[in-house]
Formats: sequence, structure tokens, C-alpha cells
Amino acid sequence: MTRIARLAALLEEPLLVAGPPYVLGGQANVRYLTGLQSSNAALLVEPDATATLFTDFRYAARARAVRNVTFVETARNLLTAIGEQLSGRRIAFEEAHLPCAGYRALADAGVEAVPASGLVESLRAVKDESEIASMRRAGALSDEIFAALAQERFTGRTERELAWWIERSFREAGAEGVSFDSVVAAGATASSPHAVPGDRPIEPGVLVTIDAGCVLDGYCSDCTRTFAVGDVPDRLSELHALCLEAQLAGLAAVGPGVHGRAADAASRVSIEAGGLGWAYGHGLGHGGGVQIHEAPVLRPESTDVLEPGNVVSVEPGIYLPDDAGVRIEDLVLVTADGCERLTQFTKELLTVE
Ligand code: ZN
Ligand code: ZN
Repeated sequence: MTRIARLAALLEEPLLVAGPPYVLGGQANVRYLTGLQSSNAALLVEPDATATLFTDFRYAARARAVRNVTFVETARNLLTAIGEQLSGRRIAFEEAHLPCAGYRALADAGVEAVPASGLVESLRAVKDESEIASMRRAGALSDEIFAALAQERFTGRTERELAWWIERSFREAGAEGVSFDSVVAAGATASSPHAVPGDRPIEPGVLVTIDAGCVLDGYCSDCTRTFAVGDVPDRLSELHALCLEAQLAGLAAVGPGVHGRAADAASRVSIEAGGLGWAYGHGLGHGGGVQIHEAPVLRPESTDVLEPGNVVSVEPGIYLPDDAGVRIEDLVLVTADGCERLTQFTKELLTVE
């Protein structure tokens, strides 16, 4: 069954798929359903699985080539044009993605627009074989870049220089781009989970957290490793060991039928026993695919239950304010009896120069 037909099977009324407004590689949901990469497209899917694709002149040639949809070329102001076409009809829209101005354009044109959420995302959460193959390739490319990075000199280079090295290496190795801004966080900078690389030269004796990923075939990889620059104090290598124990417990917990919050809880046991539960302030992981953050999620408040074909990150971290941070992350595929790691690069504490 096509992706559009599988979406249609979930619908009680037509759904206008029109967002998120822009991500790398075009609007994720429209791209997932049609293959079209566009920053200004919408797809109306009817419960009988017929579909209409709307976009403007800039994407028209490629939109015309999309099979099994009726193509309508619109003016640049997409939602106003769609509103005119759908006036008087009742349609569902993606409330998490459609900007308020877009909603107003539909409503002003006389469309009865009703909110819906998570429909395309629920399909995207379960990867098919071709998606899994792409994600394995993206993971393997991450392994290559991390292995090369471990041979690089860190001392004396800035976090920003290393971030650029990572991004350039991904592109030179054939990636379409990076899946998010690379995190290179040395010493105290790493006490912020989403640190911004800075201009200070890296000094020996600290931990450096590297969180980076690429996009390949439209799919994201996501991997974090923490390195030691030269000799580090025992307390820092112990911090790394504690995080690794938590990460392995998280991996062991991930499998079909497992609640997102249960996998998250499994990863907290050792860190809490070490008295550092307060320093692990984020969830265990998130889904990944055409976007770097998607369903399902592994967090204390998650209501998701894992199933084969889900791809999730397993990434506990420990963050000591003004001091140090450590995080270790693999992206994994949920299988029939557990999970398969998509990133294989070693998780031992590697010492770099
Ligand atoms: Zn990451
Ligand atoms: Zn992640």
C-alpha cells in the first residue's frame, strides 16, 4: 500500500498536509508522502486515498512528475490559493505545523478547518525496508567520521574549528548535509546539553562531547561520543563510565512493546545510584528519520510504546554546571526482539591529543 493510502486509512475527513514550514530537504510530511522536496507545498488527502498536490511555479515541474496525485499549480501564497479552491468544505489540518496566518487564510476563504495531529508522524515512526537501509548507511557514515575525528588533534583547536571539520568531512564523504548544527563542547561548555561551539582553544585535561549527524538519502544520523583530551582526572573518566553504564542499560531496555517511559527509567538507575540523578535533566531519547527529532520519544512523560521499525536515540547525559559534561548516544532500530545499533563506533573513553 502506498504511504498516501495508509494515511487515508486513518482519516475520517480530508487532511491538508502542509508543514512543518521548512526543514532541511523540504517539508517533511509532504516529502514523505510524495517524494517532492519543496518549502512551499501542501497535499490534500481524501479518505478514499485520492490526493491533490499544491505548490507554486518554482516546484511545478517536479510536482507534475509525482505519480498518483492531481497536481494544482498555485500562486506563491499557497494557503490563500488553497482556501479559494476548498471554500465551503470541512477539512482537517495539522495543528502542530500550520501557522496561524495559514489557518486564517483558510478560515477567511470559508473553509471549515478542524485541527488534527500526529497522523503522518505515526506513519513516519515505523520505517520500511528502504528507509531502514538509508538510516543504516547514514549511521555507517557517522561511524567513519567519528573514527577519523578520533585521529584529529584537539588541543589548541577551537570547538568551532572542530565543528567545521566534522561538517566538511560529512559533506566530502557524500552526505547531503548535516542533520543539525554539530555540538563540540569542551570542559565546562559541555555542562549544557545543547552547547554552542565557541572560540576558545581546547586545553588538555578535559572531556569533549561531540554530537553530530549527517543526512543521507534524506535520512538523519545522530551520534554522540565523549572524548578525553590528553590525561583527564579519574573523576572525569568515572563520570564517563557512569554514563556508559546508563547508556548500556537504556539499550538493553529498548525493544518492541516497551513503553518510552520504561526505557527512560532503566537508563536512570545507575546515575541515580551514583547520586547524580539531578544532573541527567533530559529524556533518554527521541525518534529519528527524515527529521532529527520525531516520534516516538523516550522520556519520563512519554506515552509511546515501541514497535519494530521505530528508530530512536539512546542518549543519557550527565551535566555538572561550570565543570564538565558527558553524553553517549546511539541511534537504534527497534527489531522483533530488541534493537539494532545504527552507530557502531566504540563507546570506550578514547583519548585524543
Ligand atoms: Zn545527538
Ligand atoms: Zn539525539
